[in-house]
Amino acid sequence: MNKMSTPPGSQTPEEAMRLIRQAVQDAWSQACRHYGLGALPEPTLDFSLRGRMAGQAGWRVRSLGRKKQAQDFRLRFNLEAYALHPADMLDDTVPHEIAHLIVVARFGPGCKPHGPEWRDVMEDCFGLAPRRTHQLALTPARTVERCFIYACTCREHQLTSIRHQRIRRGRRIYTCKACGAVLRFQEELPDPI
Ligand SMILES: [Zn+2]
Ligand SMILES: [Zn+2]
Repeated sequence: MNKMSTPPGSQTPEEAMRLIRQAVQDAWSQACRHYGLGALPEPTLDFSLRGRMAGQAGWRVRSLGRKKQAQDFRLRFNLEAYALHPADMLDDTVPHEIAHLIVVARFGPGCKPHGPEWRDVMEDCFGLAPRRTHQLALTPARTVERCFIYACTCREHQLTSIRHQRIRRGRRIYTCKACGAVLRFQEELPDPI
């Protein structure tokens, strides 16, 4: 893949959002067909994500007695990441985040974020290598802090190294404001190139 085929920053934010929206719709209907999910409502999109994550999937958890169900699927994307690596965003970040939503749609919240259910969507449905590392919002002109990805039952979170160290040393427990679950460490994002 030639990442330089689209010069960074050559598109307006409106064009970027239109292309991401289109990629989401295509991947969403492909996954719904593949798994026979019928007319699962499309996730709502917003483009307000900043920082090191290129995309983020989220949902609300509803309790039905003992059972938990996920609803209100949403996807957030980082336009800064898109401007730097547009092809990665469309070909990798979009299916990566949609795969998270498909997993909770099929199995409910509680699967490991990049476990076998998620890998199945990436490989079997999208025909992609299931890389769990996120494509990064690399900003060459700016020093970016180290970043640690944690997960609850409803989304992934990016934590600073200060918070990560507090957790590591057993000094703090962080919980998700949306679902109340304790945040669990997933991966460290590598240093920016
Ligand atoms: Zn992920
Ligand atoms: Zn949560």
